[in-house]
Amino acid sequence: MGINHFTEKIPGLYYLNEGGSDIIWLLVGAEKALLVDTGFGRLDLKAEAAKVTDRELILVNTHMHPDHAGGNGQFEIACCAAADLPLMAGMKKRMPEFTEAQHTLTVEEGDTFDLGGATVEVIAVPGHTPGSIGLLWREARILLIGDACNQQVWMHLEHSLPLTVFAGSMQKLVDRAGDYDCMYTSHGESGMRYTAETPRALRRLALAVAAGQKHGEPATTHLGHKAMLIMEDGVGFYYDPEKE
Ligand SMILES: [Zn+2]
Ligand SMILES: [Zn+2]
Repeated sequence: MGINHFTEKIPGLYYLNEGGSDIIWLLVGAEKALLVDTGFGRLDLKAEAAKVTDRELILVNTHMHPDHAGGNGQFEIACCAAADLPLMAGMKKRMPEFTEAQHTLTVEEGDTFDLGGATVEVIAVPGHTPGSIGLLWREARILLIGDACNQQVWMHLEHSLPLTVFAGSMQKLVDRAGDYDCMYTSHGESGMRYTAETPRALRRLALAVAAGQKHGEPATTHLGHKAMLIMEDGVGFYYDPEKE
């Protein structure tokens, strides 16, 4: 069951659970609001956002997967990392119903959104997709991480990057641990909550698998993808051994 309206998580941070496990985030500053992802696009997101804020909306995508950018067509402008633009082209081909924003602007590492009393920094975390980004709300010490880091990262996808690159992104999240108290992902009831321990464990595991020191087991994702899965102490990832 989805909760098809924005619910306050902490002051200024709202989540909307579209369809049961896809989280759309909304950060409300004194002057502007940042909408993070658009789900599959089943809901009128402007109307939903208007129920909690009258601030001007800025849309940013953590990455260009259909469960994160499906509603981009409702907006004039979307922002995403340049490295994920080819994924948008792929979505348009595979899903004729997918429409993009009229204009898609690119963001990169270190860019910030000033929402008025809330500064949100872009952190590039390539791996799950080439253009995956995290969004660090500096004042609240919260990192919205999309699908780039969680207890079971999908690294087996056609466009997922090598595990060594993923390990580098996890290292970056460990290096930035002093800047956030927790990260929230885009899936789960109201976004799963993690600390820097998760990227620390993922980095170790990714390097060990990339070096051939550890091996996963054949597994199938809930979407029916066949891949290898490695898990240790409840944290791990799917991967494609052909790529490594
Ligand atoms: Zn996702
Ligand atoms: Zn994804």
